[in-house]
Amino acid sequence: MTTNKLFNLEGKTALVTGAGSGIGQEISKTLYNAGANLALAARRKEKLEETKSMLNNKSQNVEIFSLDVTEENSISDCLVEINKTFASVDILVNNAGMTIVGTLDKNEEDDWNNVINTNLRGPWALSKFWLKSRLEKDQKDGVILNVSSITGEAAQKGNGIYAISKAALTHMTRQMALEWAKYNVRVNAIAPGYFRTDLNSEFLDSEMSDPMIKRVPLRRPGNITELEGPILLLASDAGSYMTGSILVVDGGHLVRDL
Ligand code: NDP
Repeated sequence: MTTNKLFNLEGKTALVTGAGSGIGQEISKTLYNAGANLALAARRKEKLEETKSMLNNKSQNVEIFSLDVTEENSISDCLVEINKTFASVDILVNNAGMTIVGTLDKNEEDDWNNVINTNLRGPWALSKFWLKSRLEKDQKDGVILNVSSITGEAAQKGNGIYAISKAALTHMTRQMALEWAKYNVRVNAIAPGYFRTDLNSEFLDSEMSDPMIKRVPLRRPGNITELEGPILLLASDAGSYMTGSILVVDGGHLVRDL
């Protein structure tokens, strides 16, 4: 197979959550440029419109859908709407995420519920509904790509609930890969290090950023376009024998010198 064919997503449709900003916007561009139709989903439709307006050089179908991953009704309504527009949603990207900083002794119950419901329960519930709707249509294959984090592999002071949610998302990736292989559904995750987005720009602009960047072997945060290759590998047939894999994209941050 030629390289182009290996990564080609023509004829596929991808649902990307949190597609209106940051990494979700980059994932949307990457999948679109590889030929996929897109269902862009999040709470702020105006941000999704911005992403959609960037994707105008090809002929695929790009539609936006309102979605709050913390609300089960919103998830099922969203999938009903998407299924009216697209015959098949072949690739599900669980990218939506958030953090509430603070040490675990100071975090409130609401912090815990908000972060866990968005970063962990949301991907579980959406994946479950997505699988159900595929099986109802007798579509026995598919790809799930979760956006985890290197904080799922190592602890991070002051960002505990987030790190715990990502550790669990990483393990849920393996668990789903194991259980859903029988449906020919591949489930993988990327675990990015630091990439400048709305989620962390305050931190990257603060004085705490410098010592952190010095611990990254490549000595810089990632450029968001450096996620393209890993995303395409896991979303396309190039990764057809990969499931349960966690692809770390962090400039070597996790293997820093001890
Ligand atoms: P952003 O804040 O730019 O993006 C987060 C997106 O998630 C927003 O577009 C937001 O859209 C969406 N979102 C949040 N809550 C919900 C919800 N309840 N329902 C639906 N959508 C929601 O940050 P990033 O792009 O950085 O984050 C994207 C993913 O990447 C997250 O999972 C994050 O943990 C992960 N990540 C980021 C890293 C980085 O360095 N930036 C490193 C490692 C992982 P809206 O508000 O419109 O709903």
